[in-house]
Amino acid sequence: MDKINICDLDFIELERYIESIEEKKFHATQIYKWLHRVGVTTFDEMTDISKSLRQKLSDNTFIMKMEVLQCQKSKKDGTMKFLIGLDDNCAIESVLMRYNHGNTLCVSTQVGCKMGCKFCASTKEGFERSLRACEIEGQIITVQRYTGEKISNVVYMGIGEPLDNYDNVVKSIRLINYPLGLNIGARHISVSTCGLVPNIYRLAKENIQCTLSISLHATTDEKRKEIMPIANRYSIKELLDACKEYIKITGRRISFEYALIYGKNDSYEDAMALVKLLRGMIAHVNLIPVNEIKNGAYKKATEKSIEKFMNTLNSCGIVTTVRRELGSDIDAACGQLRKKYIDKNKSLDNV
Ligand code: SAH
Repeated sequence: MDKINICDLDFIELERYIESIEEKKFHATQIYKWLHRVGVTTFDEMTDISKSLRQKLSDNTFIMKMEVLQCQKSKKDGTMKFLIGLDDNCAIESVLMRYNHGNTLCVSTQVGCKMGCKFCASTKEGFERSLRACEIEGQIITVQRYTGEKISNVVYMGIGEPLDNYDNVVKSIRLINYPLGLNIGARHISVSTCGLVPNIYRLAKENIQCTLSISLHATTDEKRKEIMPIANRYSIKELLDACKEYIKITGRRISFEYALIYGKNDSYEDAMALVKLLRGMIAHVNLIPVNEIKNGAYKKATEKSIEKFMNTLNSCGIVTTVRRELGSDIDAACGQLRKKYIDKNKSLDNV
């Protein structure tokens, strides 16, 4: 029989498993803490459980391996970008950003992405697989161990589409949330989606108080279709209807991401169209000067047009901020480091 990945069991599943191997349930508390709070990599580090139980666990289960393959640190602002290797030789990225209110980790949810947004580097190497819940949580544990620093906020804005890996993402939020583990409050967790409408309705009913971010990036279906293939499946109206329902059920404000692309979606008319779409919603707009990716067709909007766009929205009562560009000297746009890693391995294969 295949060994069980013990890290992927939530607390209730772990208790059940411990009972199923005829051990006392209370061991689940000890083991859970070792795996999800301390982040041990071997059973021998679980010093408060007996050798025989440790042996039993290692005979039937395994602790998955996640290791930092590469780490870049920005000289400008201390942002750190990690390339993390998984059990099956896949690699993902996580980014540690330092804000006044604490450390935020941007986590990946899939190895690659199927969504095909034109401006995004994550999608360029195609899709490999979805991450398990423990691999999403494991990014936080791995980075905390590596840096010795505590993570207080988590954003699901790395590689992949969270709502395309729905069950694992929801389970990972519960793992990250769990008091015996990382104990990070759901209000400190943001999930970002390009807009998989049916799963926004599902997420609203999960009773998790996380923040939802919507990658909108355009104000008409025509323009959105040009840059985001998902717009062919769901219209902006359907997307905003789902958002309104999310707000109604959870009482939480939604954050709209809008990447400003030179000459594409950065005009005064675009800003006014956005005002019209969002008027009356409990919303916040986050403007992102688009990160130019290698061989990408899109250019960053000018400083002046970004400021004007923000002022237009703010003066119309839509709370708007510009996302600080962190780590601009270290391939900060998600997917770029992994792409380099794959390109390098490809060229090595050809030698
Ligand atoms: N798939 C999810 C989460 C990952 S992307 C989503 O689409 O929301 C996280 C955010 O970064 C999204 O808002 C995405 O549109 C944005 N993004 C991706 N590539 C970018 C780039 N080159 N410049 C600026 N923002 C980018």
